[in-house]
Amino acid sequence: MKKQFAIIGLGRFGSSVCKELHRMNHDVLAIDKDKHKVNELKNHATHTMVADGTDETVMSKAGIRNFDHVIVAIGEDIQASILCTLILKDFDIKQVWVKAQNDHHHKVLEKIGADKVFHPESDMGERIAEFLTSEKVIDYIDLSDEFSIVETLATEKVKGKSLADLDIRAKYGCTIIAIKQKNKVDVTPHPEDRLNPGDILVVIGHKNDLRRFQKEGL
Ligand code: ATP
Repeated sequence: MKKQFAIIGLGRFGSSVCKELHRMNHDVLAIDKDKHKVNELKNHATHTMVADGTDETVMSKAGIRNFDHVIVAIGEDIQASILCTLILKDFDIKQVWVKAQNDHHHKVLEKIGADKVFHPESDMGERIAEFLTSEKVIDYIDLSDEFSIVETLATEKVKGKSLADLDIRAKYGCTIIAIKQKNKVDVTPHPEDRLNPGDILVVIGHKNDLRRFQKEGL
């Protein structure tokens, strides 16, 4: 379903989010106070606008109230990021997602009502560390500080074994929620399903349990 997004701040992060949303056929309004940044995104957004995200009147005139989802990707200017978030929450925008520069900035953003606060650099660092330390991990979603979902490769060690044989819930406290084989994804894996090397297991659990499973169980 087509959704409407506005992105304020078109640095590396904001512009890549903008391009991706536009590629996915969503409506995207891209805003930056720097006209060069705005020009660069002319062909990758539905509408572009040179404007200061901290100017309440300008934001109001831009119709920002009509957006359900606004992403604030102003980086270094923490004061501007906070002020812009405040204005957007005052406008009662349902989802205001903000890029934080550091932990103090994160806390303030949460206090003033940001609906999601993220740290792309450190989040990416964690993801890359997870990939680097396990040759079996194919993809990785962080659910919280403690829990994740990983896509991990079945090895020779589990060849021909069924999920019941592996008994990973009892042994490792994690759960296989899907199995990907060539062109098919089974989202209701059966205890009798047998694994082959190259199958991809989608597993949910505590990060420590997932690491133990990847190390010992696969
Ligand atoms: P990235 O890592 O995503 O490149 P960054 O953390 O280095 O970003 P900045 O370059 O400081 O962040 O800011 C991102 C963008 O936000 C810049 O293009 C900047 O012009 C824009 N920006 C900063 N303040 C405002 C503001 N008040 N209104 C609109 N845009 C702004």
